[in-house]
Amino acid sequence: MADPEILIVGAGPAGLTAGIYAARAGHSTLILEKELVGGQMNKTATVENYPGFAQPVNTLELVQNMDAQARRFGCAIETGEATSLKLNGTQIELETTIGTIRPQALIICAGTEPRKLGLEMETELTGRGISYCAICDGPLYKDREVAVVGGGDSALEEADYLTRFCSRVHLIHRRDRFRAAKIVEERVRSNPKIVLHLSRVVSRIHGTRQLEGLTLTDLKTGTDIDLPVAGLFIYVGLIPGTGWCQGAILLDEAGFIITDEKMQTATPGIFAAGDIRKKTVRQIATAVGDGAIAAQSAHEFLSHSR
Ligand code: NAP
Repeated sequence: MADPEILIVGAGPAGLTAGIYAARAGHSTLILEKELVGGQMNKTATVENYPGFAQPVNTLELVQNMDAQARRFGCAIETGEATSLKLNGTQIELETTIGTIRPQALIICAGTEPRKLGLEMETELTGRGISYCAICDGPLYKDREVAVVGGGDSALEEADYLTRFCSRVHLIHRRDRFRAAKIVEERVRSNPKIVLHLSRVVSRIHGTRQLEGLTLTDLKTGTDIDLPVAGLFIYVGLIPGTGWCQGAILLDEAGFIITDEKMQTATPGIFAAGDIRKKTVRQIATAVGDGAIAAQSAHEFLSHSR
C-alpha cells in the first residue's frame, strides 16, 4: 500500500467528512477504521437534530451515504487499528495493525468509547445482560424489564428507544436533574413505560452467568432497593480513544485532544476532529463541521509545505 498524502484515523461522521473534503481537494486519502464505518452513529437508530431532514433520519442510511460520498471522490477506507504514533523528525509514522503508514498529514477522528460504571461483575456480564448499545441489543429484551443508567442525551434517547421492545424501562440517574436536552427529557417523562429512579445509583450487579438484577442505593436516604431486570444499558459518558497517540500530541487531563479553531493540534501536520477533540458540543452536526475544517487545514498545510 502506497502511503497516502492524508491519513484519517476513524470513520465516524468527522472522519468521513474529512475524507470527502480531502479526496475532493485532490489528495490521496485513506481512512483507517478499526470497527464499523459510522462510529457512534451505529449506536442509535434515528437522528432528529441533523440539519436537512425534516423527519428523523435513519442513521444507517446517513452512514451509508457518507461512506458512498467519500468513496465517490476516491477516498479509500480500510479496516485496521492505530497502535502508536511517532514523529521521526517531521515525518509522521503511524504503527497500525496493517503496517506502518507514513502520511504527509494526519487527521485523528478516532472518537470515544463508552465509560464503564466500574462495578464488580460489569465486565463479566457484558454481553450477558449488560450492554452499552441499545440499538444492537435492545431487541433481545422484547417484553422484558430493563434498566438504563445515565442522565445525558444518550441515556434518555436510548431509554425512550428501548420502550419499543421492553415492557418497562427503569431509568436510573445519580442526580434529580437531567443534563439531556429538554425535548428529550419531556418525551421520557411522558412515556408511560419509563420509571424514573432519580438520585439513585446502581450499587450492586446480581448474577454470575447472566444478569439477574441490580441493587439501587438512594443517595438522599441511603436506603437500598432491589430491581430484578433482565438487561442493563449503561450510558454514563464517553472516554476518548487516545491511548495510542499519547506523547506525540497534546491532550487535556481527560485525554481529549487539544486543537485550535483550525483543528490543528500542537504538532504540525497533525489535526483532530469530532468527539475526540476537547470541545463542549458533541453532535453529528459538529463532528462534520470539524471534519471539513480539519481537511481544509490539512490541505493548506500540504500546499505550504511543498
Ligand atoms: P454525557 O452527556 O456526558 O452524560 C453522562 C451522564 O452519565 C450524566 O448524566 C452523568 O451524570 C452520568 N454519569 C457519569 N458518570 C457516572 C457514574 N459513574 N455513575 C452514574 N452516572 C454517571 O454523555 P452522553 O449522554 O453519552 O452524551 C455524550 C455527548 O454526546 C454529549 O455531548 C451529548 O449531548 C451528545 N449526544 C447528543 C445526542 C443528540 O443530540 N441527539 C445524542 C446522544 C449524545 P451527571 O449529569 O450527574 O454528571
